[in-house]
Amino acid sequence: MTVVTKQERAVAINPTRACAPMGAMLAAYGVHGAITINHGSQGCATYPRHQMTRHFREPVEVATTSLTEKTTVYGGRDNLMAAIKNIWERFRPTMITICSTCLSETIGDDVSSIIAEFQESNPDVTIPILSVKTPSYVGTHTTGFDNFLKEIAATMPHRRSRGDVNGRVNIMPGWVNPGDIRELKHIVREMQVDGLWLTDYADTLDGGYYSPRPHFPHGGTTIEELRDSSRSLATIALQKHVGGDAARLYKRRYNVPAHVLPMPIGLKNTDTFIDTMTKITGNLPSIEVQAERARLLDVIVDTHMFNTGLKAAIYGDPDLVEGLARLVAEMGMQPRFVLIPSNSQKWADDMTALADEMGVDMEIMLKSDMHELHKRIKAEHVDLLIGHSKGKFIADAEKIPLIRVGFPIEDRFGYHRRAVVGYKGAMYLIDEITNAALEKRGNVVSNTLMEIDLLPAESTNGNGCRVNFNGKHSITENPASED
Ligand code: SF4
Repeated sequence: MTVVTKQERAVAINPTRACAPMGAMLAAYGVHGAITINHGSQGCATYPRHQMTRHFREPVEVATTSLTEKTTVYGGRDNLMAAIKNIWERFRPTMITICSTCLSETIGDDVSSIIAEFQESNPDVTIPILSVKTPSYVGTHTTGFDNFLKEIAATMPHRRSRGDVNGRVNIMPGWVNPGDIRELKHIVREMQVDGLWLTDYADTLDGGYYSPRPHFPHGGTTIEELRDSSRSLATIALQKHVGGDAARLYKRRYNVPAHVLPMPIGLKNTDTFIDTMTKITGNLPSIEVQAERARLLDVIVDTHMFNTGLKAAIYGDPDLVEGLARLVAEMGMQPRFVLIPSNSQKWADDMTALADEMGVDMEIMLKSDMHELHKRIKAEHVDLLIGHSKGKFIADAEKIPLIRVGFPIEDRFGYHRRAVVGYKGAMYLIDEITNAALEKRGNVVSNTLMEIDLLPAESTNGNGCRVNFNGKHSITENPASED
């Protein structure tokens, strides 16, 4: 039976959430030449910078207003005015994003008024200066990203006159990896759609080595594109919880139709993305995209005997978890526990509908942490964990394979370059999941429908293991391989 549970404990133990300014910082990295100022104490800049550097393996830069005891009491206006001026004079950025923090929100600094005061006294500074509200006690890192997109939609585009279109489609990938953005660009190109990316950090956070180092990383959406985004044919938000509201804002303010879709992970969700582009532009998927879809179907068929019935625990960001849960259900697996750090009833309702549609039983865990997930797994064994690096400790303790997906991946290299979206991303995930299942079976798998455990010597195969052709597909330990 599918149930929704909510963690009521006052303290989070091993939370699966990060700080809200990090989300706005990440989104701002997708704008060419933009610089973020975190209006708070130094640690509010250091923590997101370190976390992002460990995941993306790039130098991540963010400025800080470095609030102290004095500014905490008297307000951070002077620090913020000085920070904007310094950043402008030293870097000449194309845009400045000012993220609030727990501290500056609590002391009540009115960032928008300070920006207005700065612009009045510095008329030569004509670049956009955005204020994004990101106190970490309201929402999570995905909230910060979402708030940035809403601010972009509210303040950046030009007003649009009737019938004035640029023929492009705004695409909001949401919180993904540079590898995902590249895969989405591949699909969009194959559909002959001209995508306007809100925002695009494929190259800014996965760049090459250049000498001399460029003043700003190559790539990113330009300010002119942000201004022009009100003239697009439509907006597609590929995450409901990161970009959905901004897409609706484009509809309300500029009459740009909004399509808020599930993250395109797995077969059905990728079909939905492609069908939506066809609906908007009339363009059909290319032969290449059709071939990728056919290959994905083939992979699902080829691997189903290894995976059917396996139980998975999936944790992380709401859109990612929803997409992954559908994918594993498409593979015939049970997404037994699905967990997010936020308290979203909308997400719980969507997951309940997904469980009904796919005929699976889930525990839908809201506002939960890794400690809570570990307790569940101790009580009810699962075959796989799917999520970011923070699940490593459960995986090690319970000897369960961990499929690394999401943010942060800090204990392995190169995951930011991989894609989990689109047909190719689904094939990659299915390969990873299936290989983890095979690895867990030990050294005796040579056929598809075998269940293996220890038997008396006379009925063993060459490895000292019994082989049953009973059609069960659960992973069982091979005690012989532990000797
Ligand atoms: S104080 Fe708040 S904004 Fe600063 S690092 Fe901590 S959680 Fe993030």
